[in-house]
Amino acid sequence: MSKTISILGSTGSIGRQTLEVAEQLGLTVAAITAHNRVELAEEQARKFRPRLVVMTDEAAAKDLRTRLADTDVKVHGGVSALSTAATLPGVDTVVTAVVGMVGLKPTLAAIRERKRVALANKETLVCAGELVMAAAERSGAEIIPVDSEHSAIFQCVQGCSDRGEIRRLILTCSGGPFYGMTAEEVGRKTRADALKHPNWNMGPKITVDCATLMNKGLEVIEAMRLYQLPLTRVRVAIHRQSIVHSLVEFRDGALLAQLGTPDMCLPIRYAMTYPRRAESAAEPLDLLRCPPLTFAEPDRGTFPCLRLAEVAAAKGGTACAVLNAANEEAVRLFLEDRIGFRDIFDLTARAMTELPVIREPGLPDILEADAEARQAVLKNFSN
Ligand code: NDP
Ligand code: MG
Repeated sequence: MSKTISILGSTGSIGRQTLEVAEQLGLTVAAITAHNRVELAEEQARKFRPRLVVMTDEAAAKDLRTRLADTDVKVHGGVSALSTAATLPGVDTVVTAVVGMVGLKPTLAAIRERKRVALANKETLVCAGELVMAAAERSGAEIIPVDSEHSAIFQCVQGCSDRGEIRRLILTCSGGPFYGMTAEEVGRKTRADALKHPNWNMGPKITVDCATLMNKGLEVIEAMRLYQLPLTRVRVAIHRQSIVHSLVEFRDGALLAQLGTPDMCLPIRYAMTYPRRAESAAEPLDLLRCPPLTFAEPDRGTFPCLRLAEVAAAKGGTACAVLNAANEEAVRLFLEDRIGFRDIFDLTARAMTELPVIREPGLPDILEADAEARQAVLKNFSN
């Protein structure tokens, strides 16, 4: 059970819900980090009184330092300070809720210090999952998934000591806001359309990833890394109701699932209290009133990002880092209204075709592949 936590990305959707959970569980919040949302960071710092607040944007750090001058809260600036927050002495659990591959280095730093990592930041596992899992194996750090599907699987495999008993994982997928549309209709969708998710209220990047189904592709890779399974043993099922959060099929044919209302506080709370469960005041799912549960094959023709992620997963090496970085850049351009919805796929696919795959990459290879993929997207976008 966690007692003292650091939250990387406390001003985001997961970060804010983690603070709610921390308050309910009476946890000490030792460090929080944000990028540039100074007002919210100040409000959180005044309420939770962490020892350290990191603003990765230096100008925001300067501003916050002035605002918090009347307190004893320390303010650090810059991306490298994320690792300071992740390795703070006395902290037992680090919640990684920043968005993007910027989470990689602080996650590795926390693992080296044998902190429990409550991992929401899936991009880290996508680009460097094998390194992250190997580092955790070496240090003995626990990695507890916060992503709802992976938390569901984690809950279902409790008591399963032989991973060979898992036949396959079934990741459920809401289908996103454009479910059931044709490729032509989807191609015309705008930023505003993509930001409307039917079941979850999340940050902008993951919301766009849900609309392209890239999110599910990233989650397939995340699941492969967390449970050390090949692509052939991870299946995706469209489940519009977002009630069954994912399933595990065991070798005797038993299927175990975790069900609940769509509420990220549950997986966050479980990552904090694991291996125990804490009382929650949240309204539970009423099975007798819930809609019929349906499952269907995803449409990879209309949503080719899912297939693209599966191609990267099958290739392995630096292919997943390239996929992730190119997608991050393309989504940023889409959120800035500079490219269309379909360009997210086109730019990511092109970066994957252009860049070589390096087998068994070390951290420098991954960082290089990440940088090259971003450059490739920017070059192809401006041409
Ligand atoms: P948000 O966009 O809501 O929050 C992102 C957080 O990261 C904010 O605190 C933000 O600070 C900070 N941040 C943004 N850019 C940078 C940067 N360049 N360097 C350092 N920090 C930065 O994202 P979400 O909470 O939705 O998602 C966070 C992670 O959790 C993602 O990896 C996502 O895939 C994963 N996840 C999210 C779920 C959800 O329900 N939201 C569900 C499952 C997984 P600031 O506010 O100052 O910009
Ligand atoms: Mg998820």
